[in-house]
Amino acid sequence: MKIETKCIQSGYSPANGEPRVIPIVQSTTYKYDSTQTMGDLFDLKENGYFYTRLGNPTVGYVEEKIADLEGGVGAMLTSSGQAASLITILNLCHSGDSIISASTIYGGTFNLFGVTLKKLGIECIFVDAELPLEELQKFVKPNTKAVFGETLSNPSLDVLDIEKFAQLAHNNSIPLIIDNTFPTPFLCNPFEYGADIIIHSTSKYMDGHATSLGGVIVDSGKFDWTSGKFPEFTEPDDSYHGVIYTKNFGKAAFITKARVQMMRDLGSTPAPQNAFLLNLGLETLHLRMERHCQNAQKVAEFLENNPKIAWVNYPGLKSSKYHDLAAKYLPKGCSGVISFGVAGGKAAAVKFMDSLKLAAIVCHVADARTSVLHPASSTHRQLTDEQLVECGVSPDLIRMSVGIENVDDIIADITQALECVD
Ligand SMILES: *Cc1c(COP(=O)(O)O)cnc(C)c1O
Repeated sequence: MKIETKCIQSGYSPANGEPRVIPIVQSTTYKYDSTQTMGDLFDLKENGYFYTRLGNPTVGYVEEKIADLEGGVGAMLTSSGQAASLITILNLCHSGDSIISASTIYGGTFNLFGVTLKKLGIECIFVDAELPLEELQKFVKPNTKAVFGETLSNPSLDVLDIEKFAQLAHNNSIPLIIDNTFPTPFLCNPFEYGADIIIHSTSKYMDGHATSLGGVIVDSGKFDWTSGKFPEFTEPDDSYHGVIYTKNFGKAAFITKARVQMMRDLGSTPAPQNAFLLNLGLETLHLRMERHCQNAQKVAEFLENNPKIAWVNYPGLKSSKYHDLAAKYLPKGCSGVISFGVAGGKAAAVKFMDSLKLAAIVCHVADARTSVLHPASSTHRQLTDEQLVECGVSPDLIRMSVGIENVDDIIADITQALECVD
């Protein structure tokens, strides 16, 4: 099936007489007739639901749909994108390990890696993703367990050379984790370029309507865990009666361990109701992404030709230094987020934002409604000026999430707001 069909059809196929639409199974528990069955479920000998922290039918249908959209062997929904990042790293690393991450990543992930993982004894080395492979290799140590980057970084909109990062990871027998939140599987499929694990904040385009926080982890099933670097995958797990993940679950070793160890212990489970809403979003993902891309491209071109705009950053513009990488990794479009500076710096930026009527100031991106945000005074305000630059965020940067309204109305709103700036 093509991706448009998968958006609608994958994950849930009702049998004769069953509900046409995914049912919301609002139950924490599941009833069984024998202690034997329950025991087998706990031992992972049988497939089935026993407690919603570890699995729920509504959540399960959506996990299958997203695994299919990305082309993975399995997926696990989490209560937020942050939880997806945390579980992914903790599934690979323990105290004393190290990871390498592109420095231009989402502010929340930057803090998670730089502050909270550090407290847990896991080091993150932030690197300039544009360095050549030989330079990046110098950051790899014997205890390095993963490489991380965002396909299209939030909010700096750098396009990652995924193949280069995959080479770095695989030359060292470690997996590449890609946060594919901004492109979604409709615009880019990182597994095709060598990524091993994909994560998303589903709170963004996948939900698409700003209703439900959520995250997802998708396992490509392709990474070889048996090099000796990942004994937790190849040696018995005493907390699961000696299960050996690579032996018992084969290609699904990573995602199974993420669920039965990490979700069991951390409990950042999504609500069935939120999974239902996420699925509604996914059913129109392909249509919405197409329109987000078209509108953003037009708005970016309009801004670039406006004398009151100091600079525009959108990988779909010919002037972007990421134009070539975007042509390779994002051939269908560069998603809906644009960043730019209004001539006159921070004061002009604030005046512009306060004058917008259609576009609202919200701490969110990637939903149907056009919105704006000033990261330096909101999402990234806890970072120092130096860290801001490292993250690719200048003090005058306005992030605009271009919605799926009629683009003429969006441009008219920008025009009238710019007229208010002197
Ligand atoms: C929003 C976001 C996250 C965090 O997701 P939440 O659902 O807000 O926890 C992670 N990565 C990227 C790229 C994001 O945009």
